[in-house]
Amino acid sequence: MRGPNYWSIRRHKLIVMVLDLEEMEALPSNKIEGFSERLKTMFPSMYSHRCSEGCEGGFFMRVDEGTWMGHIIEHIALEIQTLAGMDTGFGRTRGYGEEGVYNVVFSYMEESVGRYAAKAAVKICEALIAGETYDLTEDIQGKVKCPQRGQSTKNGQRHRKHDGQGIGKTFELCRKDQVN
Ligand SMILES: [Zn+2]
Repeated sequence: MRGPNYWSIRRHKLIVMVLDLEEMEALPSNKIEGFSERLKTMFPSMYSHRCSEGCEGGFFMRVDEGTWMGHIIEHIALEIQTLAGMDTGFGRTRGYGEEGVYNVVFSYMEESVGRYAAKAAVKICEALIAGETYDLTEDIQGKVKCPQRGQSTKNGQRHRKHDGQGIGKTFELCRKDQVN
């Protein structure tokens, strides 16, 4: 979204991702062994995310109590943009109207980077769930170069391979200039 929208009066540059959690709907963060620790180890700087608690460490409190993967993907997408030197900070995750399906909304400075961050955040979250190691450097540096078509195609293919076994079967990015 590039203009006034349903999600925010002030924030006009927003990625809106429709995410189907599928079986992960039944598994909030507190139900996945070691998830919270792995997230904190990978993103210690997320301590600064206040989230709805309104204080530092607020987001980590939500993760410890149990929150759903769409919300976590929103925060990862914001954080990897911050780590890449782009100051973003607006995010919302709300039910889409079908069970297990969410609108994940977050701000960007560069649209191509925001779109990349959406896909990367899903992959990172899948790795955190599975307890697999994940090298963030590629995403943080790769995003800067991301507009190149070849690279985004490659990522797209890699993402499709995950379909049916991870999050995001009905993963789509909305780039319309629609005013909701
Ligand atoms: Zn939050």
